[in-house]
Amino acid sequence: MAKEPMLKFVNVGRDMPEKRDAGDRKGDFLEIYGDFISDKAEEQASRCSQCGVPYCQSHCPLHNNIPDWLRLTASGRLKEAYELSQATNAFPEICGRICPQDRLCEGNCVIEQSGHGTVTIGAVEKYITDTAWEKGWVETITPHVERTESVGIIGSGPGGIAAADRLRRAGLQVTVYERSDRAGGLLTYGIPSFKLEKDVVMRRIDQLKQSGVEFVLNCSVGEDITFDALRQKHDAVLIATGVYKSRDLQGPGSGSAGIVRALDYLTTSNKVSFGDTVAEFESGELNAEGKKVVVIGGGDTAMDCVRTAIRQGATSVKCLYRRDRANMPGSQRETQNAEEEGVEFVWLAAPKGFAGNPVSGVMVQKMRLGVPDASGRQSPEVIEGADYVEDADLVIKALGFEPEDLPKLWNTDGLEVTRWGTVLADFKTHETKLPGVYACGDIQRGASLVVWAIRDGREAADAIVEQVNAAASVAAE
Ligand code: FAD
Ligand code: SF4
Ligand code: SF4
Repeated sequence: MAKEPMLKFVNVGRDMPEKRDAGDRKGDFLEIYGDFISDKAEEQASRCSQCGVPYCQSHCPLHNNIPDWLRLTASGRLKEAYELSQATNAFPEICGRICPQDRLCEGNCVIEQSGHGTVTIGAVEKYITDTAWEKGWVETITPHVERTESVGIIGSGPGGIAAADRLRRAGLQVTVYERSDRAGGLLTYGIPSFKLEKDVVMRRIDQLKQSGVEFVLNCSVGEDITFDALRQKHDAVLIATGVYKSRDLQGPGSGSAGIVRALDYLTTSNKVSFGDTVAEFESGELNAEGKKVVVIGGGDTAMDCVRTAIRQGATSVKCLYRRDRANMPGSQRETQNAEEEGVEFVWLAAPKGFAGNPVSGVMVQKMRLGVPDASGRQSPEVIEGADYVEDADLVIKALGFEPEDLPKLWNTDGLEVTRWGTVLADFKTHETKLPGVYACGDIQRGASLVVWAIRDGREAADAIVEQVNAAASVAAE
């Protein structure tokens, strides 16, 4: 082992784990990046300059102790690196795979700013915890003391399960209520397995089950059990339901057959990857095979749809977005991956209506970018007389998500929402206006990222532990 393992960025170039060839990866749903072999992980970790003020850490929503676990990795002290990494993040191997690192830790790495190429933080983070799983270092949770107080968590996405992990470590009894037939939220049924293989998610769910967390699946709160019943049953309730109301398209023909919602399409594809038989896939309704596919939207959900359609064997896949490449919300890395796999992007193009029923084409308006608005973003304007029809026999709407109306759905008074429909809660304690009721993740902050949901879930769990501790000491007086 080298005496001074760090600061190698001057001589050692940035390297990522090998990316599978586009022709090869188009044929399956496996992750597209390979693994670091240990020498490579050590080499890449050794590029870190061990900044006194690590901007990577301050731009990680979990404030992961990145410089220290890089140093430990570079020194071959992997078990310690794992312990440090998991102290701030319940699921480091998941974040290492799917965080948009270019906008978070890596985008703010000092050596990236000085032109040497960022430390590949995400890939090292994934390597550390994948290795920990392989070596058997990831253990079930055994709290020091078992407590009688219980918490009901509504929703098993990253926010809900990050909270479950932390609450169990504090010895509380935890039940997760999930309306779907599998736990994991969008980790399981939204994000495709070429970004996040499903056994990576399922082993975490199993770990929580073995640690005593109870999962009640196929249980929709508001339908199968009332929200009030949960409040009576548990000492605290955490709402972690995510945002699921798809934004819709208007215009002639928008109700035609063959125009589908992104999440229905992706959920079906993920269920098929689990080996389930899904009628809408079998019938072709939610299957791109042999079709001309047009996806509408420019975010990460749109990128997941186009790349899924390629893998299902679509004859062509186009992505329509009303702004240009520089102004799209989706990650540039994912856009590049999609292009390599054969997706065609049609920039500055917006749907005006749809031809045929079932759909046979999208009526497209060409756009240009106008003057910047108050936020500095250029608004798209229609170019008159430039309309045309884009052939399509499957159109996927990927325009983003909004919260469902929870107070109405759950018939509950006092659960306040913001003007965007998200649940109103304190941003540090996550407590809502209802005592003992907390909220975290997308349902509190709006459609966001896995890493933010994890942070929220951990913070909410800490506030709940404080609440039950306070109640216990009052009772003891
Ligand atoms: P969710 O993951 O949405 O989980 C909420 C859970 O609550 C679901 O399982 C739902 O079934 C359940 N639920 C809802 N209502 C009820 C009810 N009434 N009763 C019981 N259960 C209920 N983020 C990234 O960081 N990287 C990515 O690459 C990325 N890709 C994405 C791709 C897609 C297609 C989408 C849609 C999102 C993506 N995101 C990504 C965003 C990320 O998935 C979310 O920000 C994150 O999952 C939010 O976590 P959550 O726990 O708040 O909610
Ligand atoms: Fe970077 Fe995400 Fe890991 Fe934080 S959790 S270090 S942002 S990859
Ligand atoms: Fe290392 Fe980059 Fe973080 Fe500095 S900013 S500590 S170089 S990873």
